[in-house]
Amino acid sequence: MVRDKGKPREANAMTPVTPRYDAVIVGAGFGGMGAAIQLDRMGIGNYVILEREDDLGGTWHVNRYPGLAVDIASVTYSYSFEPNPYWSRVFAPGAELKRYAEHVADSYGLRARMRFDTVVEGARWDEDAHLWIVRVRGGEPLTARYLITATGFLSQPKMPDIPGIDTFAGKVIHSAAWDDDYDLTGKRAAVIGTGATAVQLIPQVAKKVAELTVYQRTPIWVTPKIDRRIPPSVQRLFARVPLTQRLARLANTALLELIMVVGVLRYRQARITNRGAERMARAHLRRQVRDPEVRRKLTPDYSFGCKRPTFSNNYFPTFNRPNVHLETAPIARVEPDAIVTADGRVTEIDTLLLATGFNLWDANFPAFEIIGRTGRDLGAWWRETRFQAYAGVSMPRFPNLVSLNSPYSYSGLSYFTTIEAQMAHMARLFGEMKRRGATTFEVTEAANDAFLDRMTTKLGDSVFYLGDCASSRSYYFNQHGEAALLRPTSTVDTRREAGRFPLSAYEYA
Ligand code: NAP
Repeated sequence: MVRDKGKPREANAMTPVTPRYDAVIVGAGFGGMGAAIQLDRMGIGNYVILEREDDLGGTWHVNRYPGLAVDIASVTYSYSFEPNPYWSRVFAPGAELKRYAEHVADSYGLRARMRFDTVVEGARWDEDAHLWIVRVRGGEPLTARYLITATGFLSQPKMPDIPGIDTFAGKVIHSAAWDDDYDLTGKRAAVIGTGATAVQLIPQVAKKVAELTVYQRTPIWVTPKIDRRIPPSVQRLFARVPLTQRLARLANTALLELIMVVGVLRYRQARITNRGAERMARAHLRRQVRDPEVRRKLTPDYSFGCKRPTFSNNYFPTFNRPNVHLETAPIARVEPDAIVTADGRVTEIDTLLLATGFNLWDANFPAFEIIGRTGRDLGAWWRETRFQAYAGVSMPRFPNLVSLNSPYSYSGLSYFTTIEAQMAHMARLFGEMKRRGATTFEVTEAANDAFLDRMTTKLGDSVFYLGDCASSRSYYFNQHGEAALLRPTSTVDTRREAGRFPLSAYEYA
């Protein structure tokens, strides 16, 4: 160990160790930026934001596929304290989200504290020095009093393990690594996957290619998207009278809450709402697709909400096009110039588009090795016991770690409701630290256990356990069949608890 400032050294009662940073934040997406803004609000300004990509924005920097847009209305899918009156549409296109992220970074002075192309390989709590040592690929380790991970939920692209896929001789593009220079015009393309990404991508691809075959394993529930251009007069109104946009946000958030809380989390008490959502989606499909056989194939056989539903007006009609084919036979293998299904049919293609999503449970919880007190390895502990995190942010034996993308952390449908609740949790926790003059916090085993018990009990009312989810193949479920991603409380409760959790849930030193 090196002994100058910024480097860990042996603790000594006479010489407290000063870390290089108050905090290291990992991830320069909306979660990491929210945490950074919160730290600044609390007067903790000596932090660095490490980002593996070459620019900020997280999902909205990485994803650039055609058709990319939010599928949560922009008035809600943004920080409540930094409204953007100038969204061009009710559901803004992806490029606007990227610009909004840049605007936030510049407005809050975050950019200067970001380090791009910086891959964090691991972090270890130094029990003697009371600091985190963060290993960075190709660089010196960094030391920090606090570690805040904001590595996203959907940030590790999943490549399908289909036999022969490596032998494909044509162009392969994953939706999360779009090749802007590749011209789809006249191509014979295949899309694998029919999740929320594919729902946005397929209509755009279909317009360009000669032939498109969509390989669907599990259909997705799709409801209408009430999207339209926001005229300049309304944008001016939002800018001049911010209350009007706040009201629009409130109305939209209430609608999302109805879908998520009443339809999904309170399934036991409100099956009727869930059935209503299913009926709406079925009617949407009936209105939009002519061929009854195609309609049948596009109809999910699992309950609404078991996997994330989406909103679209142009996905279903794409299957009416003569150049678009829906294939539901399982893929047996990929050959250099074709996809072969289990029934032996061969479809020749030159372009393979993978809308196959992300690996959450194997690769993302956590996104890099984190070793806490007494050598507890977070990934191993989660897998050997249960996926768990107090209030979705902290774990016993991981002092001074705020883990924003944790089990039971995601509350509501818009990620921003989660981010802002977590910011409120940080405000209360760090406020108490300051009041006590403490430098270390750690959630107690008892608080963590009680939270996990409460989440488990509440989930018993949800569609995940009472509905028919067997065939949904939903990333809401982990490898043990537990729906451990979403927090089964209303966003109102999540927010309230973040501002009022018992301070005794933590030990301070
Ligand atoms: P996803 O929902 O995980 O969908 C992946 C798709 O690929 C599924 O249809 C899956 O089928 C299929 N697939 C994966 N591996 C396969 C294989 N080996 N063979 C055949 N099919 C395979 O991923 P996503 O569509 O990228 O969406 C992820 C999430 O991103 C969404 O749920 C949403 O939260 C978010 N998103 C948000 C927006 C937005 O506007 N806010 C837009 C796009 C995405 P199975 O279902 O059978 O596994």
